[in-house]
Amino acid sequence: MAGIHLRGLAHRYPASDSATEAIYALNPLDQHWEDGGAYALLGPSGCGKTTLLNIISGLLHPSEGRVFFDGEDVTELSTERRNIAQVFQFPVVYDTLSVAENLAFPLRNRGLDATTIQSRVLDTLKMLGLESRAAERARSLSADDKQKISLGRGLVRTDVRAILFDEPLTVIDPHLKWQLRTELKKIHEQFAHTMIYVTHDQTEALTFADKVVVMNEGSILQVGTPKELFDRPLHTFVGTFIGSPGMNVLRCAFDGECAVVEGNRLMLNAEMLAAAGARNLASDKDVLLEVGVRPESLTVCAGSAGVAVELLRVEDLGRHLLLHLKLGEQTLRVIHPEGATIPEQIALEFNPDSTLLYADSRLVQAGNTHCHGGD
Ligand code: ADP
Ligand code: MG
Repeated sequence: MAGIHLRGLAHRYPASDSATEAIYALNPLDQHWEDGGAYALLGPSGCGKTTLLNIISGLLHPSEGRVFFDGEDVTELSTERRNIAQVFQFPVVYDTLSVAENLAFPLRNRGLDATTIQSRVLDTLKMLGLESRAAERARSLSADDKQKISLGRGLVRTDVRAILFDEPLTVIDPHLKWQLRTELKKIHEQFAHTMIYVTHDQTEALTFADKVVVMNEGSILQVGTPKELFDRPLHTFVGTFIGSPGMNVLRCAFDGECAVVEGNRLMLNAEMLAAAGARNLASDKDVLLEVGVRPESLTVCAGSAGVAVELLRVEDLGRHLLLHLKLGEQTLRVIHPEGATIPEQIALEFNPDSTLLYADSRLVQAGNTHCHGGD
């Protein structure tokens, strides 16, 4: 197992014929992955997840920066020398070998003795529910089962320094996904390998990982526990990407005491207010100010008590209702308990502790006095 440190890492792929200049697939970044951590790397398609993973495994040489495992610079080492297991999105199996032989392959390569190999292969077969098919040729298996073998080949060795998964459950049947994710979590608890699990699916990320690394457009925007990402998104992208539906983001101004959305003054908590004051946001005209508030943290009230909004439509989500509302020129969504009445004149109560202020998409917080992208 290893702690992984990325220092000044960045990557550009060579420019294609149509583009004159190569753009960054990964913007310069520093990132530490703790030894034994279970991480999910979460972000939309094309944001750079595979690029980052392949640089860690050694399949790709970064255009800038260095990769360290436990302090040792491994940037020039091959994947094999780095001693990493990697599972890809699509099955990588030897069709002519049996299921058991496919699993034994990485162990034979490492020169393990026959007894150890046999017992590890058996454990892995059990974990994947493939015991009864051990002797079958991989060729005859379904896509699902082939991908399970791929997963098994990544998990069969216990001596690897890290296991990297690149959207490994994409081709797996939905009902099996949950089961395999649970298995992965168990394996992590048993062996405490450093694991990085790439996905674009927040449910997958939040159920697998202790820490989620959220990426967008080649930058890491936040690293945190699922709760931290939900309660305190450091970037509006994180707020909108995580949650179902995501955080509401409303353009606003700051008058020195309150966030002002469409003429309505919203109270901020003391910490937020101090940070906004320290940054002089009331007089800074060049910065884009927004309020972020989760649909779960807004309360519907009647009459003149809160911020008056207009009801656009009601969506029934089963366990609760989702109200689509209009506040001045902007729209927002609110989760409303099922069965609770919806007043004719709707107003909203904003809780200062869950009303977050963003300047140029980044959370306004103590010590964060400027707003460069990509840090
Ligand atoms: P993700 O895994 O998050 O979907 P990738 O790391 O595959 O994202 O890609 C990041 C960006 O780099 C994308 O814009 C993609 O088009 C580009 N890219 C990926 N691989 C190559 C390549 N071999 N050559 C040129 N551009 C690439
Ligand atoms: Mg990818």
